[in-house]
Formats: sequence, structure tokens, C-alpha cells
Amino acid sequence: MKLSELKNGETAVIVRLSGHGGFRKRIMEMGFIRGEKVTSVLDSPMHDPVKYNVMGYDVLLRRNEAAMIEVLPEEEAKKELPPAPIYTSRTVCDSCSGESCSNCMFKKIKTKRNNVINVALVGNPNSGKTSMFNTMANENEHVGNYSGVTVGAKTGSFNYKGYRINLTDLPGTYSIAAYSPEELYVRRHLFEQMPDIIINSVVASNLERNLYLTTELIDMNLRTVVALNMYDELLASGAEIDYEHLGAMMGIPMIPTIARNGKGLDKLLDTVIELFEGKNNTIRHIHINYGNIIEEQLVPLSAELHKADDLPPQFPVRYWALKLLEGDKEATRQLGNCMEEARWTRMAKDAAKRVQTQMGTDAETAISGAKYGFINGALHETFKPGNKDAQKQTRRIDRLVANRWLGFPIFLFVMWVMFSSVFMLGAYPQGWIESLFTWLGDVATKFIPAGAIQDLVVNGIVSGVGSVAVFIPQILILYLFISLMEDSGYMARAAFIMDKLMHKMGLHGKSFIPMLMGFGCNVPAIMATRTIESRSSRLITILVTPFMSCSARLPVMVLFAGAFFPGYEPLVLTALYLLGIFAAIVTARLLRIVKFKKDETPFVMELPPYRWPTLQATIRHMWEKCAQYIKKIGTVILLSTIAIWFLGYYPRPEQAESGKLAQMSEMQSSLSHFTANAAEVQSHEVGLKGKTGNGMIAESGKLVQMSEMQSEKVKAASERAQSTSLLDAMPSGSGLREAKTESFEQVADEVTINGINENSFIAMLGHTVEPVLRPLGLNWRSSIALITSIPAKELVVSTLGVLYSSDSDESITVDLKKSGDFTPRSAAAFLVFILLFFPCIATISTIAHETSSKKWALFSIIYNTAVAWVAAFLVYIIGGMI
Ligand code: GDP
Ligand code: MG
Repeated sequence: MKLSELKNGETAVIVRLSGHGGFRKRIMEMGFIRGEKVTSVLDSPMHDPVKYNVMGYDVLLRRNEAAMIEVLPEEEAKKELPPAPIYTSRTVCDSCSGESCSNCMFKKIKTKRNNVINVALVGNPNSGKTSMFNTMANENEHVGNYSGVTVGAKTGSFNYKGYRINLTDLPGTYSIAAYSPEELYVRRHLFEQMPDIIINSVVASNLERNLYLTTELIDMNLRTVVALNMYDELLASGAEIDYEHLGAMMGIPMIPTIARNGKGLDKLLDTVIELFEGKNNTIRHIHINYGNIIEEQLVPLSAELHKADDLPPQFPVRYWALKLLEGDKEATRQLGNCMEEARWTRMAKDAAKRVQTQMGTDAETAISGAKYGFINGALHETFKPGNKDAQKQTRRIDRLVANRWLGFPIFLFVMWVMFSSVFMLGAYPQGWIESLFTWLGDVATKFIPAGAIQDLVVNGIVSGVGSVAVFIPQILILYLFISLMEDSGYMARAAFIMDKLMHKMGLHGKSFIPMLMGFGCNVPAIMATRTIESRSSRLITILVTPFMSCSARLPVMVLFAGAFFPGYEPLVLTALYLLGIFAAIVTARLLRIVKFKKDETPFVMELPPYRWPTLQATIRHMWEKCAQYIKKIGTVILLSTIAIWFLGYYPRPEQAESGKLAQMSEMQSSLSHFTANAAEVQSHEVGLKGKTGNGMIAESGKLVQMSEMQSEKVKAASERAQSTSLLDAMPSGSGLREAKTESFEQVADEVTINGINENSFIAMLGHTVEPVLRPLGLNWRSSIALITSIPAKELVVSTLGVLYSSDSDESITVDLKKSGDFTPRSAAAFLVFILLFFPCIATISTIAHETSSKKWALFSIIYNTAVAWVAAFLVYIIGGMI
């Protein structure tokens, strides 16, 4: 029968795995091997995926994937399956501690010439690598190179007992095959960087699966020390392990550690130095016995490889022979430069065929099976399982949290708590940051003489940077929650609950949280995709997140809905949000069809046991995110605000053009309040997040009122401007004229970013862009509003307030209507365009950073703008027909 048919609570024994090679391999790495017991533990609220327990781990599988695993009830399996063979190992060389040795071809590649030791941390996800890294490189003088959890590494350097240790925290993997990007990354790191020593962190209470990766390190003959991490959990479970004996059998020293509190880490580092100096007695190179059939095939293959003198020296001959027999593509690539590579591959293919006929299974599966056999054999003699059910607690919590009926409401509640904290609690410190920047602006105004420089500092830099810096508290609070959810293990449960729905979109359960976060702000949302291991799912999630309408777009929607669709505001808002979600779904599906045919990794996901998060790790996580954000503010955002300011400020209007200037100065005074208003708008938005329905609209109504207040200010300004146009009539030389000229210049200099006068570059841009937007019923003024939304969507409402305010006392809503620029049709098109149009510079730069590619950022700009245009055009056309 199929594993997917197993009912809740039932246990069966695995008899066969089907599916393609990559799938099988991945499933085996997770512990699904022939002869292993598996229990169906829990159905997700939507019946897919299902939680299974195998080798003491909770692992999620989708139903269609579970259908690829054939199982039998325990009784029947006993009859059918022969007892699992216990594989052994053979020591190849007793004293191979780093010197060149003909027997096992261990070549010392790096000579011990200085006191720098390059150490790489490898191990399963959640085995405590990062905790270890953080504790050891605590006084880190240098930590950098952090390009994402999934396909990047983090390095730190520190001094220890006279050595400089360069520690690299590699992504977590279940093996060092090359099926997932993380595995490939780890493998290339080992091949290309050739670290001196490997620290392999394994979960002490779950050795069977964790040691699988260790067997691969044995094959690679890398100088390794195993950190038996979470030793506290092992002790708590009542289990016993003779780790010295186990280490001796595997030829690898083993050190118990508790990475969380640093226990055992000194001993671990001492062993690293011992290994480096060649003074460790435990280390030796062993050959795992893969059984007669495989070994028979390996002999002639190895002999052939031995003859070559261009074999990459990083790994031993036997490793290459094994990989060729497995048909491993990465090995073929790495051997690509060898003269005889083609012949070897042919030989290996034939050998693999022979294995297939003799064993009835392919070589790769047989080799994996033998690795587990070797581990079993070793553990048989050294490990006594505990009698206490270590997972009892986890199971109890899961029964509630991942319950079919309660799981979903609990999840929604957690989300609600998270978002309301982000936006409500965040509003307070946000207010302080706002005040700080207002104060900075005031100080700058006071001390810098009026002119271009003052304007640049006050209206360009301070206001531009300030409008983004106000999000820092939200980012911190958000990451407090994300960090807690990840470290406690709840994040995996959230993915479990949402997977079915997300799978329909061609995405992963873990894509849900970033997309939801997108309704707040796209920047942290895109950063949150780091928890998605599958690279294609992660990329797609990043690319669709901008369609989730962020809070900055809300005020525009409220303004236009009120002006052109009175009485239908909630309907318009809901429709827009749904349209965004629809665009995201269509895009995700399209990308799946066109670019990423299928998810390269199966869903199989581990459900780690619940653990208490530590304060230290949480704070570190929050700080890392915050520092990244601040760095971005200091670079991309600073530069772009300066650019926008420049475009709006220059070229300066000629004094002679006083007619134009008078018109212009009408706007300028309101523009000088522009910044403050933009900040106010933000804080209002933030308040909005906590509210829903009518409350939200009422709040946004306030924003509209604010814009109305602007028109008041404009009125006053225009009176002032009229007096300046009298300037020419004044006799020169009179004190009056000089005084006036001064204020005149000051007024001209007050023109801020988005300078709406037709002289500025940005206005020219508005005119240039107009033809493209004309089919949507939009003119040059609305084009400027769209252009100014590029640095931040927050700027649209204030820009419109300036563009459309008239001398009359009427509200901006009325002004908008009276301007004749918009009809309900074109207003709808404008809204759709704003919704789908490419997000903002911060988001784009985050996309570029997170995907490590400018290409995808560019794609996002072009694709989203194209979608926005087409959708707005359709809306305009359809609107015309109604
Ligand atoms: P990584 O995925 O391998 O980098 O693992 P992390 O360092 O992120 O650790 C995963 C979880 O295990 C975190 O919640 C840690 O707090 C916890 N953890 C790490 N080391 C230990 C340990 O020695 N004992 C216990 N009980 N928990 C640990
Ligand atoms: Mg980690």
C-alpha cells in the first residue's frame, strides 16, 4: 500500500521508493529508507501535507509525494523484508592525519604555513550551526558576507589559542548531493574553498539521520570533527551514547556540545587545532563498505581513475568513483577538465547498469541504503535510546496548534497579533523618529543659509531619508515576531497549515507569511522570503509580493474612491486589493509555467520540535535585519532622494519669467509643508493598519482633510506670490525692492522636490511620459504624481494635493473633480495603475539584493509596469463601454 493511504496514528514499514532520482535521494536523506518504520502523525487542516514520523523526526510530505512511497504493515513487512544488512567499514590508513598517503590518496592540499585555520560549519538545518557560529565568533571583529539564509554563507573571524580562525556558517543541508541550491553551495564551497577543517554539527538525540551527512564527509576524506550538539536534549531523553567509541569507529573525533549556552565549544575548538596540527589520535580515513556488488564495480573504476594524473586532488579517488557510479552531474562537471572524463563516465554508466540488474535498484539508492546500514551498525554498538519521550511536549502542542479545526483560527490569531503589534506598537517610536527628523530639518534650516544647499538638505535628504527611516521600529518588531516564530518552530507549522492553498498557486506554504506582510510594507516582506528553502519558490514569492497592496497605496485609493465613486468606497477598496491578489496569483502561475517548470525540491519539510527561543539569538536576529535596513537607507535611498530632489529643483526658473514664477510660488509654500505632511500621512497610515472596514476609511478621510488644509496654505502663498510679481514695478535702489528681492529668492529656493513648475526636469519628464499614459485617460499632471511615487508611494497624495489645489475653499476632492483631469473611468485606471505599477525604489533595491541579481529587479520594474499599463488600459476601455 501507499504511504499516503496510511491513516492517522498508524505505523507501517517502508518497502519501496519510486519517483525520479532527485526526489528519491531527497526523501532518503530525510530518513525514508527501506525497512524504516514510519507513522502518520497528523493531517493538516486542509488534508495536505501530512505529518509523518520517521527516525524520530516529524517530517511533512504532500500526499502526492507520500504516494510515491510504498509501505507494508509491520507484521507483513517482517515476513517480506530480509533483515537489514549491517555494513561495516575498513580502515584504509591508520595514520593518515594529513600527510600524503598512497593508500587512500589523501593529499594535503594546503600546506600548514601560517596560523590561520579556515573552518566550515556543515550540518542539517536546525542542528545548531548558527548558534554555534554566533557563540564562537561572539567578539566578532568581522562578520559579513551574509547573502541570505538559503544560498549564502556567513563568515566570522576570531582568535583562539594563537590561531586566527575563519569560521564559515554554511546553509543547512541533509546531504552534500547536488539536488538543491543549498547542497550545491555547500559542495562547491568544500571543493573550491577547501576549508582546512570541517565542523559537522549533528543533533545528538537524532543521530541516525544526522550522521548521513557525516558519511559523505567520510567519503570525501575531509578533516572533520563532529559536534554532538543539543547534548542536553540527549541527556534529558535518558539516552546514552559512547561517543568515543562511535568516533573511533567512524574515524572522526566527536565532542558533545550545547551550542545555545556555549558548553563544549572550547573543547570543539581545541580539537579543531589538534586536527590542524595533526595531533589527533581519533582521526583516520575509513572506507564505508557498500556491499559486494557495489564494491565490485568500484574496484575497476577506481583503478582507472588512479591512472590519471589530472584528477582534482580535493577528494580521494574512491569518492570520484562513487560519484561517477551514482551518475552525479556535479562530479561530471568537476571532472570536466580531465582528459579521460568521457571514458570514465561511460564505464560508470555500464557499471551502474550492472548494479541495477543485480540489485534491482539503482546505484545511488543502493549507496544511500548502505550508508544508513553503516550508521545503524555503528549506533547498534554505541547508542542506547532513552525511555523518555522527548517529543511528548511537541506532540501535545501540535495537537492543539496544528489541529484540523483550531489550527487555522490559531494561525490567524497569531498573524493578527503580529500585524497589530507591528503597526500599533510601532507607531510610538515612529512618532519619535519623525520628531527627530523634523527637528533635524529645523536645525538645518536655521544653520544653513537659504539656497540650493539648504533645500537639498532639508527637503531632499532629511525629509527623504526621514520618510523611510520611520519604518525602522516596524522592521524591528516584525523581526522580533519572525525570529520568535522561527526559533520556536511555529514558522514550520504555519507553512504546514497554509501549504495546500499556496500549492495551488505553484508556491510553498512558507510563501504565505511574506505575502501577507506585503500588505504592510513590501520591503520586510521580501526580506522574510529567506525562510523559503526552495529557490524557485522564493524567487516567485519575491516577484509577486509587490502586487500585495502596501499601506502606502491606501491613502491614494481612499482619496480617489471618495472623489469619483462616492458611496462605493469599500467596494472599490476591496476590488483593488483583490485585483492585486489576482495579479499575484496569475504571475506566480505564469512564472511556474514559463520559467520554473517545477519546484526543484520536493516539499519534504521537517517539523522541528518546539524549542524555547533564546533572548540572545532573537536580539541578534533583529539587529541584523535592522542594520541591513539602515545600510540601505544610507545608500540607495539617500542617493535616490537626492536624485529626485535634483530633478525637481533644477533648472531654476529665470527671474524674468515672473509670470510663471507667480504661478509656481503658489505651490511652493504648500510644498514646503509637503514633507511634514508626507510624514503625517505615513503615521496615519500606520494607525490605519490596526483598524478595519469603515474605521479605516474614516481614518483615511482625515488624510484627505489634510490635503484640503494644504489648499488653505496655498491660498495664502498665492497672495504672497502676487505681491512678488509687483516687483518689477518697484523703483530699483529703494530699500523696499532689495528686501523684496531677497524674499523673492528665498521663495524661489523653497521649491522642493517634485517642483511642479514646468521648468523642472520632473515636469519635463511628466510631459515626456504623458503620451504613454494618455491612452489611460491620464495627462501630464497625473504623470508627475506617478513619477513622484517612485521613491515612495507615500508621496502621491501630497503631490496631488499640491497639483490640484485651487484658490477656492473647496476640498481637494472637489478640486480633483473640478480639474476635469479625471473622469471616473480615468480615475479607476489611475488607481489600478498605482496599485500594480512597480513598487518603490526601496522594494526594487531589496529585490535586487535578495535575489542577488539586478536582472530580476529589472524584470520586476518592466513586468509590473507593463501589467499595470495593460490592466489600467482594460479598465479604461471597459469603463468606456459601461
Ligand atoms: P541551524 O539551522 O543549524 O543554524 O540551527 P540554529 O542555530 O538556528 O538552532 C536551531 C534551534 O536549536 C534554535 O532554536 C536554537 O536555540 C536551538 N539550539 C541550538 N543549539 C542547541 C543546544 O545545544 N541545545 C538546545 N536545547 N537547543 C539548541
Ligand atoms: Mg542557520
